[in-house]
Amino acid sequence: MIKSKQKRLIFCLASLLALSNFLFGSASLSATPIRQVSPLIRSFRLGASEQGRPIEVVQIGAGPRKLVIVGDTHGGPEANTYQLTLQLIAHFKANPENVPQTVSLYLIPTINPDGLALNSRFNAHQVDLNRNMNTNLDACPENDWQTTVHGANGIVSDTGGPFMQSEGESRLIRDFLLDAAGAIFLHSNAGLVFPAFCEHLPSIKLAKVYAQASNYQYNRFWENYPIRGNMADWASSLGIAAITPELTTGEESEFAQNLAGVEEVLAQAEDLLPLAQAQIENEITVPAIIWRYWFTNGAEAVFGMPLEPASQKPDGVIVQNFVRFRLELKPNLKDTPYYVQPAALGSERLQILAFQHPALQPLSPVVCKTAPCPLFFAQTGHTLRESFLSYWQRNGGLNLFGYPLSEEFETLTADGQLRIIQYFERAIFAYYPETKNVHLEPLGWQTLLLEKMQSSGATGQIR
Ligand SMILES: [Zn+2]
Repeated sequence: MIKSKQKRLIFCLASLLALSNFLFGSASLSATPIRQVSPLIRSFRLGASEQGRPIEVVQIGAGPRKLVIVGDTHGGPEANTYQLTLQLIAHFKANPENVPQTVSLYLIPTINPDGLALNSRFNAHQVDLNRNMNTNLDACPENDWQTTVHGANGIVSDTGGPFMQSEGESRLIRDFLLDAAGAIFLHSNAGLVFPAFCEHLPSIKLAKVYAQASNYQYNRFWENYPIRGNMADWASSLGIAAITPELTTGEESEFAQNLAGVEEVLAQAEDLLPLAQAQIENEITVPAIIWRYWFTNGAEAVFGMPLEPASQKPDGVIVQNFVRFRLELKPNLKDTPYYVQPAALGSERLQILAFQHPALQPLSPVVCKTAPCPLFFAQTGHTLRESFLSYWQRNGGLNLFGYPLSEEFETLTADGQLRIIQYFERAIFAYYPETKNVHLEPLGWQTLLLEKMQSSGATGQIR
C-alpha cells in the first residue's frame, strides 16, 4: 500500500517537473535574473529557496493592478496547488488577452520548492512558511507571530521559525508583494475560501467573489484552530486584498473550479483589487510603496518617522528621508527585492571619516570553536556578533542594513555618549548598555542636515 502510494507520488512529482520544464524552459532554471519573452508574457526567477532551488514567476499583462497567485506554500502534501498553478500558467499563456489591461497577473507555482522536493509541508529548515510572516502589524493580537503554532490538523509544534520572516522564502514573498493589489494563496484540502483574519473589507469581498465563482464554501474565518504568521493576514495588513482558497482534495488540481474563480476576479479587477495608497505619517505624505516598505520592515521603531516629503530625481528614483534611513524607490528594480531599499548612507559616512580606526581594517576569517560564533563576511572581511548579529538578522538583514564595514568600536554617538558602534553599508548600529538594546544612529537626519547646510538646491516635491 505505502509502496504503491510512494511510487504514485514519485511519478506525480516527475510529471509535474516535466510540465514545469515545459512552461519555464530549462533556461529559466539558470541564474539568469530576467528573461523577456514578449511585452505581455515573461518568466523570471524570483529568488532561491533555502536549499538553493529556484523560485519562478510568470507574469502575464502589465497593468497597474498586480494580482499574485502563490501556489504550494506547503510543499509535497499540497502539490496539487503546484499543479493547479502550472495549469493556470499554461492557460493564461495561451490566452493572455483574458488578463485585462488594468491587471498584471503573476503566478508562482511553488514558493516552497524544498518542501515539494522533500515531500514536506515545511521548508528545508522545518519552518512552516505560512506561520513565519509578520502578522503583528494589524489590529488583531490573536494572529500575532509566535514560534509555537498550530499546523496541519491542529498539531502544535515549534514551526513558526526562530523569528518573524526568518526564512528566505518568506522574505521573497514580503518583498515581491510590496506593490501588489491582490494576493491568492492556494492551499489544500479543506474545500473553502477564507479572507484575512483581521477585518479587511477588500479581502472579505475578494474571498466571497472567488468562493462563489469557484463553487467553494465561503468562511469568514478558519475555525479549526488559530493561525498565526500566515501570508494572507500579513498581506492584508498592508492593504492588499488577500485570500486563502483551500482545494477540496489533496490530489486533484480542481483546475476548472479555480480558473472560474480567477477569471471572475479578473473580470471585477477594478472593484476587487485596490491600488496601494499613499499614507500620512507625522503629517507628511509617504508614497504608497515606500510606506509599505517602511511599515512592514519595522516602521518607526526601525526607520523613525519621515522628515520631509518625498522627491523624485531626474532618473525617476523617488527618495524620502526618515530619521535613521533614506529610502529610495527605483522603478527599474520593480519585481525585485530591491524595488525599495535604504541608500548606502553608512558607506558614505565611512568614506568621510577623518581617522583610520583599526576596527575599520578587514579581518581574516575567525576561528571559532564554541557557539555562538561570530558571522564572518568574506565580502567585506568583517564580522558580526552577539547583540548586533541578532538585531541584524531579526530586523532586515542584508537587504536592509547591508554588509558590516567595520568591527565594533567605541566612539561618541549622536546623543553625545561613548558607546560601542558598528558601521554597515546602510546603517550604524549603537549598543545602549543601560537598556541592553541596539539603536540605530540617526543617519537620515544627519545626512539631510549636512546636505541642507552644503546646498540650497531643491528637487521637485511629490505630494
Ligand atoms: Zn496549506
